[in-house]
Parts: sequence; structure tokens; C-alpha cells
Amino acid sequence: MRPELKEYPLDSLFASTFDIARKVGRSTEKERAILLKNVPYVSGLLGPLLSLGKPATTFLEIMAEYYGNLINAKKQGKKVVMTTFCFDPTIFYAFGNLVPVTLEVGTVITSILWKRGSFDFMDFCTEVGFSETGCSSQRGAMGAYLAGAGVDIDMVAVNMGGVCDTNSNAYSFAAQYLNKPFYGLDYPAELTPDDVTQYHRKDYRALIRFLEEHGQCSFDIDRLRELLDEKRLQESLMDELEEMQRLVPNPVPGIFHLLIYAARYTFSGGKKFTQMLREMIEIVRNNAENGLSGLGKPEKSRAFLFYIDNFSFNVGMFDWLEKNQVSHMGCMLSRTFSETAPYRTGVPGTTFSINTKNLDTMIDSLADINARMPMTRTIRGPYDAPNMWLEDSLSLAKIYKADCCIYNGTPGCRNTWSNVKLIMRDLEKHGYPTHLVYADAFDGRVENWETTAMRLDEFFKIRGLL
Ligand code: SF4
Repeated sequence: MRPELKEYPLDSLFASTFDIARKVGRSTEKERAILLKNVPYVSGLLGPLLSLGKPATTFLEIMAEYYGNLINAKKQGKKVVMTTFCFDPTIFYAFGNLVPVTLEVGTVITSILWKRGSFDFMDFCTEVGFSETGCSSQRGAMGAYLAGAGVDIDMVAVNMGGVCDTNSNAYSFAAQYLNKPFYGLDYPAELTPDDVTQYHRKDYRALIRFLEEHGQCSFDIDRLRELLDEKRLQESLMDELEEMQRLVPNPVPGIFHLLIYAARYTFSGGKKFTQMLREMIEIVRNNAENGLSGLGKPEKSRAFLFYIDNFSFNVGMFDWLEKNQVSHMGCMLSRTFSETAPYRTGVPGTTFSINTKNLDTMIDSLADINARMPMTRTIRGPYDAPNMWLEDSLSLAKIYKADCCIYNGTPGCRNTWSNVKLIMRDLEKHGYPTHLVYADAFDGRVENWETTAMRLDEFFKIRGLL
């Protein structure tokens, strides 16, 4: 690892970056204009973000608090748990003394904020023995923690066993390399049978015992109930946003998706996240009442990203869509699959509900939620099996009246690259022009932005979408 990258620990850099950025959000217009002129490196990102208004400032506050918690964890006698974005973090907050660090969120922030991306950290993982063909979403931030350029990790708790080999292997590699205790929830290939539900719930209880043992604490039942009640409220607010997204034109700004899922993966159940959602609803309702699109200009077409977004060129993909008047209809990361979500497929057992009646129902709810996080739900089995990737994508494209579908992912994702051509063929058969982006969502070295943009131009023009 280059010594320059170890000079300032990653989490401290993020904590101070977000702390300054959140203060800018509260500044006057004049102060902001002067400040943005003096920070050319980030003004292209910060300026458009802050122009979104209150939700953007609240988002920056959420991230400042998240990284602030991390860098203060040891001073406050807390333990740091390395985890994945597919793991709902509510349980860590219920313990009170556990602080989650979500690798993929760190990778995305590094890729979006820094022109040098997270390439050095990715490469460090391979230098110390991790496979270079693994998913880049973990490697981007993982390298920093392996190199000692991040906070000290106390344990690793994840949930992709049975769903994604590269995700599970990344975390088990990190646990072995750092010599830390590891727990991985396991998922069978099916989601809905009763014995699968019972397996998930039993496994989740074993995870809680692991956290109690290695965190030397037990969780507070009242705090857990409070967090889950808040989470239920957050689900209903996200439902409202998703429902409004069905309108033509779509009144939801595309970048809201990124803010929502980043906040959900780090602050699920937290009150600030609720505040951000309420602030978004205010903007979106106003757009909807006035027949405005969230693009700030007329909507020409609607694109559903049936896998994930692209984070490797600042927010290049979001910018491209906006500039070309294409509404971003969300991606796999946007959806929660609560029982009240507008896009639930209606197959029994595919969604979750939150029941806070007693301790058992709360733990069952958490186990069910974890089994329905984006990838643990949608790509755990064959892509064309019932309620898996194809069915979800078709029903989402339909209810959001998508004009086209776009695949954007990471070449390390064997789960999706192994069958992406098949699902594209099926989506085309159902009438959706479908485009495959060859770039890596997190690693800008795989395909340069000019090529990605040129291929998007070509697709949208030739398929008559603009
Ligand atoms: S993007 Fe693919 S490889 Fe990466 S964590 Fe998700 S399923 Fe796994």
C-alpha cells in the first residue's frame, strides 16, 4: 500500500469530509457559491447534490454521524462489526455497543468522491492473496482495513452464504487475514418454503448469540422495538415514494435512489433516515401535484436499471440520464420487499412484515428482512425460478412503466454475469429494449466513461428511446 494512502485513515477522511459537507448544506447561498469556487475537486459533485435541498443535507448529516460513530467507537468502548450492504444493520444498533462498517458503502463513497477511485485499495486485496476476479464492491474499501488504513475491526458478520460466493469469500478472507471472529448467515436457494423460513430464523438466533459472545453484551429489547417501529414507518414512507414513481412523468429525482439505499444500509431504523424520507416526500409530492418530472425538465423516457447503478465515474450515470431526460426508475438496491411495497409480487412468503409483539416475533422479523435484502432475495436461486430475478424485473419494469432496461454491474458478479445474456433475451421478448453496460460499477479502469456514455447514446438513439 502506498504510504500516502495510510497517512490519513479512511474513516477519518470520510468523517471530516461529511462533517464539512453537512455544514455547507446549512450555509447561505452566497457562502456556498464562494466555498464551491474554492473546492474545485468536489464542487462538481457537492453543488448538484446540495441543489436537491433538505434531503441532501440530511443525508450528509447521516453519513457524518455514521463515520463519526466509527472513528469514536473505541473511545466509547464500542466494538466495530464489518458487514455487508445486504445485511440489515438494525440489530447492531439494538445492541447499543456495536458499530457497523459496511464495506460496499465505503467502496461507493471512495469511487464517487475520489478521482483516483479505490483502485489502490482494490489492488492491495489481491497483493495479500485475495482473488482479483472477486466482486469489486467489497475490495474497494476492504483493502483499506486489511492495510490498517481504517478503524480496527472486532468481528465480521455477514449474510451472503448460498447467494454470492464472491461476497462471502471476501468477508471470510478479511476475517482470516485480520484474525477476527466470523459469522455468516446461510441461505438456501429457495425463499418461500416453510422449512426455509424456519432455517433462516434459527440461523439468525445463532448470529445473535455470536454477537452477544463477541460483543460482550446483549441487546436491549425496548431499543430493538423502537428501532423496528421506526423501520416500519420508514417502509411506509419508501412505499409512498415508490408509489408516486408510477406517475408519468416520474416526479422522483433519480439520485434520491442512491441517497435512500446508502442511508438504509447504514442507518436503518435511525430517526435521521426517517427525516430524510419525509423531506424527499415533500419535494416529490410537490412535483407530482404540478405534473413535474424529477429530472427538472420534461421526461423523454424511463429506464429501469435491473441490477445496480454505476458509481465509478462520480455520478456519471445519473448525470447522463438526467442530461438526456431519462427518468431513473431505481434498481435492485432500491427495493425492500416489505409486505406493503407497491411492487410485491403477491406470491406468499416473498415479502416480510415487522411484528413487534414480543421478542420472538421481532427476531423472526429481522431474519425475514435479512432474507429479503436486495441480493439475498432476488438472485439467490436460478434467474428464471419463481419470484427470482426475471420475475422481479418484469413486474418492476411493468409497474414503473419502463421504456427500457439496463444492466450495470461488476464483472466479478458471477451470479448475474453467468446469465445476463439470457435475462436480456427474455426482457427483450417481453418488449423491453435492454442494454448491457460492460463497465464495472465500482472500478473505473474496466471501461472508461467515454465508452460507456457512447454505448448508452447509441442504445437510446437506435432503439428510438430519445
Ligand atoms: S454485485 Fe454480485 S458479486 Fe457483488 S455482492 Fe452483489 S451478488 Fe455478489
